[in-house]
Amino acid sequence: MVDCLFCKIARKEIPAAVTYEDETVIIFKDIQPKAPVHLLVVPKEHIESIGHLKGDHREIVSKIIFAAKEEAAKNNLKGYKLVFNVGRAGGQLIDHLHLHLLGGWTEGVAQSLNV
Ligand code: 5GP
Ligand code: ZN
Repeated sequence: MVDCLFCKIARKEIPAAVTYEDETVIIFKDIQPKAPVHLLVVPKEHIESIGHLKGDHREIVSKIIFAAKEEAAKNNLKGYKLVFNVGRAGGQLIDHLHLHLLGGWTEGVAQSLNV
């Protein structure tokens, strides 16, 4: 079994504010939110990062993105940002693939964060 924080959250060994879960994906609130709504969309399978994807992960990645879209709608977000940090140099601190779902700002604030 992988000794990994997000695997432990997925296995309910560490508590988190879970907002959605199915057999493939779990979504929970980021413990240090960087936006009014900041959720982490996480595959239950341990995949280190986008840089570690293999061909048979296509369906999982697709499910993550669809789950994020549905969670955004559930939160009545009119607009939002989806971010994958990849590797330390890309700002990734937890080595378990996760998609940041960020939203809930007023328009001007969101634009000031644009890349
Ligand atoms: P990364 O920098 O790897 O892309 O993002 C990791 C995210 O996980 C950070 O935004 C951080 O606040 C969040 N995080 C770190 N530890 C925990 C935790 O124990 N619980 C939850 N819910 N989020 C965490
Ligand atoms: Zn993991």
